[in-house]
Amino acid sequence: QKAKEIRKKLDLRVTGLSHNIKPCVSFAHFGFDEKLLGAIANAKYTEPTDIQKQTIPIALMGHDIIGIAKTGSGKTAAYVWPMLTHISKQPNGEALPKNDDDGGCGGGPIALVLSPTRELAIQIYNDTKPFAKALGFKTTVIYGGASKYEQVRELQTKNPDILVATPSRLIDMIKSKATTLGRITFLVLDEADQMLNLGFENQVLSICNSIRPDRQTLLFSATFPRKIERLAHIVTCSGNDGDSRPIQ
Ligand code: ADP
Ligand code: MG
Repeated sequence: QKAKEIRKKLDLRVTGLSHNIKPCVSFAHFGFDEKLLGAIANAKYTEPTDIQKQTIPIALMGHDIIGIAKTGSGKTAAYVWPMLTHISKQPNGEALPKNDDDGGCGGGPIALVLSPTRELAIQIYNDTKPFAKALGFKTTVIYGGASKYEQVRELQTKNPDILVATPSRLIDMIKSKATTLGRITFLVLDEADQMLNLGFENQVLSICNSIRPDRQTLLFSATFPRKIERLAHIVTCSGNDGDSRPIQ
């Protein structure tokens, strides 16, 4: 009953799943790494928010998620914690294809978070960092309107596990071989409605089409108009977009 109420409130859609998974009501039930639980306690969070209760168990199972919830509902952590758990399960990158043609960027990140704006990208980076650090993972943020040189240098010296990026700067960085999407297996589209409002649809689609199709995709949005529904359908497990080409 409680699960039903939460679901109704959130308007949560889960791709490829009949919706009978119970939400986890306490941090202890997620099965997170002790170090991650420690970082959550440090953040003084006592209980997961509704969207966290509902999406985290499903994300941890490896499913794609379309999460619609209003601003301030805790969407960032709802994808950051499963993302970190996903990365910690990768066998040292050994099982992932190393890209021979990566121009020295050392294989590239495992998780990518796309953000519509520079401000949000920085905020996501700041929100992710303490949790990533607790598990020993490195995070880098790249965005437009700032010097490319510093960002290229950080990508190449840090070789981050997690990349937070705005679409245009990411495409720029891929074209100049400062990073690669070859190892991405966890993709997040945050504020997808803003992404479309700002006219990034083609960039987003070409980025998505450059990432292996068997990745896990999480899309978050505050609203769910038809345009988002269409985008969500394209980028989640239902398949590729025929019109949009990968980045070249
Ligand atoms: P949204 O992306 O849905 O707008 P955010 O992820 O930015 O929301 O979170 C809003 C605020 O709630 C942030 O300040 C964040 O630190 C805080 N927050 C997130 N999860 C929890 C939690 N479980 N308990 C308390 N505060 C939380
Ligand atoms: Mg948000």
